[in-house]
Order: sequence, then C-alpha cells, then structure tokens
Amino acid sequence: MNSQQSIHRVSHEIKRRKLHVLRVTDITPRMRRITLHGPELTGFISLGTDDHVKLLFATTPEQQAALDNFTPGPNAEGPKPAMRDYTPRRYDAASGELDIDFVLHGDGPAATWAAQAEVGQFLHIAGPRGSMIVPDMFDSYLLIGDETALPAIARRLEELAGNRRALVVVEIEDDAERQTFVSKAQVEVIWVVRGEQDLLDVTRQLKLPEGGLYAWVATESALSRKVRRVLLDEFKLDEAAVKAAGYWRLDDSDED
Ligand SMILES: Cc1cc2nc3c(=O)[nH]c(=O)nc-3n(C[C@H](O)[C@H](O)[C@H](O)COP(=O)(O)OP(=O)(O)OC[C@H]3O[C@@H](n4cnc5c(N)ncnc54)[C@H](O)[C@@H]3O)c2cc1C
Repeated sequence: MNSQQSIHRVSHEIKRRKLHVLRVTDITPRMRRITLHGPELTGFISLGTDDHVKLLFATTPEQQAALDNFTPGPNAEGPKPAMRDYTPRRYDAASGELDIDFVLHGDGPAATWAAQAEVGQFLHIAGPRGSMIVPDMFDSYLLIGDETALPAIARRLEELAGNRRALVVVEIEDDAERQTFVSKAQVEVIWVVRGEQDLLDVTRQLKLPEGGLYAWVATESALSRKVRRVLLDEFKLDEAAVKAAGYWRLDDSDED
C-alpha cells in the first residue's frame, strides 16, 4: 500500500503569519466566519480536512510587544501569547483568502476576539505544523462532533466522492445552528440539540453504514473519550479507523 492509499501524516514548516481581517460573516447566531487576507498568507498549506492553525492572542502588554516575533514550537522563548487551535475552513490561494469559523461560546481569548472582530484588524496565526491525511478510501464515514467540529466536518464532506456515504451527527445549541453541507456523497445528518438529547445516547442508537468505515469524533474532551469508547466497545470498530479528539475542555481556560 503506498502513502496515497493509507492514513499518513505530512509535516510542514511552522510559519507565523500576520494577517488582516477582510470580512466578518455571521453564518449562524453562534458561528462567525472571519476571512483573513494579506501578503504573508502566500504559501499557506492545509492538506488535511482536520488540520489546525494556532491563533495567537496577546492578553498582557508584554505579550503584545512579543507577538510580532513569537513563533510557537519547542524552542519558543519569552512571553507567550495565549494560543488556541482553529480549523482552516477554506483557503483560496487565488484570492489569497483564509476562512476561519469561530463558535461564539462566550469568554475566552479566541471567542472574545471573534465577537468584536472588525475589518482591518490583525490576527497572528501559526501553522499548520502537520496534516493527517485520510485519503478517501473508505466506503463510508461517521463524523460526530459539536459546533467546533463543523469546519472540519464540512471540509471532509466537500472532499468525498459521489459513491461514498457519510453519517454526520452534530450536537448544537439550538436549531438555528444547523448548517448546510456541500458534498457529492450520500450524506445523512442528525442534529442533536444540547439539553434535549444526549450525544452519547444518540451515538449508541446509530445504525452505521455498511462497508469499510472511518469514524471521526471531535467535541468536548471528556465527551469525545466516551463516544470513542462506545464506537470501540459497543460497535466494535477497528481502532485504526477511529479518530477521536478533544476540541475543547469544560472549565479549563488555560489549556496551553
Ligand atoms: C484541532 C482543533 C480544531 C479546532 N477548530 C475549531 C474551529 O474551527 N472553530 C471553533 O470555534 N473552535 C475550534 N476548536 C475549538 C477551540 O480551540 C476551543 O473551543 C477553544 O477553547 C476556544 O478558545 P477560547 O479562547 O474562545 O476559550 P478558552 O479560553 O479556551 O475557554 C474559556 C472557557 O470557555 C469554555 N469553552 C471553550 N470552548 C467552548 C465551546 N466551544 N463551547 C462552550 N464552551 C467553551 C471553556 O471550557 C472555558 O471555561 C478546535 C480545537 C482543536 C483542538
């Protein structure tokens, strides 16, 4: 099997970029798309649908002063800005635009910045430092997440071929957070409204598509772990074809 046909990782040189806000678009009441632009975007690369960039936010004057020179990595020194992971939702090299979709969940350097973002402001990003490439080689895809996973889920669906099936389960705050996906594949979407239904219960009751299945989970960390256990222990999925990530932590505002 060559690397084109197997799940594999590609590393990239970490670059820090200072970009400016070109557009601010509210996709839903709780999801804001910020389109970034600027000469430093040249050469940006995002090969994996669940890639992430680090967004850098200064919360003190010392961090602000250091921000222009800071590059994350093992050798990073000096005052460290707050760093948060976000999915490059869309990169268009021709127009030089990068979209990042922010969940407006409340307090936190990233969500607070997105809530006040205006055209012309600057945002520092770094990465992606690597991409996990999952080639479209499975018959079907199970994609489970919450709002923070929507950018990666939408990217995955956009890349699937017409003969694939995808079962998508997304936990959202309320029905206004539903998004429309674009895909050539046969896609079934189950929206789970927080507080009305339980994502774990819904997962347990799923009827999984037949054939070779790849499962991808991204939600609050503890919940992602539980969903993963259900997929491995109850559905007996192959561990090598299950990826479960914690995308945020409940009551943990200092994860870096
Ligand atoms: C690989 C990866 C890709 C990601 N991609 C995206 C993306 O494209 N878009 C996106 O919006 N998020 C994405 N996330 C999640 C995002 O990084 C976290 O939600 C992050 O904690 C937000 O930072 P903050 O500064 O707003 O809040 P923080 O300072 O981290 O947290 C402040 C408080 O808010 C709570 N909190 C954080 N996030 C949420 C949430 N989503 N809902 C409810 N409460 C929350 C925390 O528990 C804490 O109490 C991604 C995470 C990872 C690991």
